[in-house]
Amino acid sequence: MAGPKREDWGSGDAAKVAHWSQRTAAYHGTVTWSPTIDPERLKLLSQEIVLERKVKLIYHSWAAIPIVQDGAVKGIVFESKEGRMAIMADVVVDATGDGDLFARAGAAFVNDIEEADVHHCMNTSWLFGGVDMNRWIEFKAGQPEQFTEFMARGREQLGLFERPFVSWRNDIALFMGPRQSGYSALDVDDLTEVEVRSHRAMAAHLDYFRAHAPGFKDAFLMLSAPQIGVRHARRLSGVSSVLRSQWPLGVPLADEVGVTPAVSPKFPNISIPYGALVPQQLDGLLACGRHISCDRNSHGFMREIPQCWTTGQAAGVAAALAVEGRVAPRAIDIGALQSALLSQGVYLRPGAGTDALAKAQQPETKDATAA
Ligand SMILES: Cc1cc2nc3c(=O)[nH]c(=O)nc-3n(C[C@H](O)[C@H](O)[C@H](O)COP(=O)(O)OP(=O)(O)OC[C@H]3O[C@@H](n4cnc5c(N)ncnc54)[C@H](O)[C@@H]3O)c2cc1C
Repeated sequence: MAGPKREDWGSGDAAKVAHWSQRTAAYHGTVTWSPTIDPERLKLLSQEIVLERKVKLIYHSWAAIPIVQDGAVKGIVFESKEGRMAIMADVVVDATGDGDLFARAGAAFVNDIEEADVHHCMNTSWLFGGVDMNRWIEFKAGQPEQFTEFMARGREQLGLFERPFVSWRNDIALFMGPRQSGYSALDVDDLTEVEVRSHRAMAAHLDYFRAHAPGFKDAFLMLSAPQIGVRHARRLSGVSSVLRSQWPLGVPLADEVGVTPAVSPKFPNISIPYGALVPQQLDGLLACGRHISCDRNSHGFMREIPQCWTTGQAAGVAAALAVEGRVAPRAIDIGALQSALLSQGVYLRPGAGTDALAKAQQPETKDATAA
């Protein structure tokens, strides 16, 4: 991965901030820990981590229909090349991003959007190879007037126009747009149209960048993302939620399972409550990732990767505790959940589960993921 060294995280040094602000790792005058990751290494590493822990992986299968009995999810019917199969489970974690499973199981959800935010836009990202991103940054930072002119001409010629981000290598450029609004991630015709438009945009951008962008003379189409980029579809209606009204308060909630910055550094960090992963009514299921319970304003940051990792870890540990204790996910002991998360190195704040914090400092803290 490419990003600042640990000793530079949080630095306000002007030269370092200037360097990293061109490389997506400085924000509001501070160097941040926000690296760009080689996606192939991440896929391989993720696979090996779960296999090491003896998880049975099933690729190439699509979760289609939840099996619901007496208000609780008991398993999922999958479709694959083998036809149809059911996997039964004491707890199902819905990580589909779009809430496919909780919605089909009958849980309540919302789907309102924040028009001013990009969180409802879709697009298929792509990579160009054969570029010199240092040369591009030199142009962008060193010739601001020519850069503005380049962007204006690009918008004029291509309509929706996007500039590249740095990647994990100097010879690869990352395009995370152009973002397209007005489409539904739950409509196959819409998904198809966004895919078609994104691939056309990719070709048009290549022509324009090869002709006009310093560092892009020898660029080539390297890869369009293996999967369309969806930012928002459904959001669970949970027992509790991450809410806009909480941003100014920064109060650690009693069932905090993670901490997130709000949308701007002017707000304190806020709690992610366990209740945001738990459906209001449905049992046997937890949600994690970009469809957890939050209002549309908070979705702007709750959909980001670190927050998705945080809620994924919390949902996994909570599911293990529910299975071990033979209770519904909504009935697990929150203190035990917080202790387990703390023992795994999760950052929770004093005040949120004070007992759990005290227990975690004792040597014989139990690790719930062993369950
Ligand atoms: C173009 C783009 C750029 C972004 N850039 C950034 C960034 O720079 N930094 C950042 O922090 N965030 C960024 N985000 C946001 C962030 O990447 C996502 O919100 C986050 O990765 C969502 O994670 P998730 O696991 O909840 O959902 P997803 O990443 O959508 O994963 C859901 C997975 O479930 C699978 N799936 C879905 N339905 C089913 C089913 N029925 N059966 C089986 N499998 C299923 C999907 O194939 C997918 O693998 C970006 C988003 C987009 C679209």
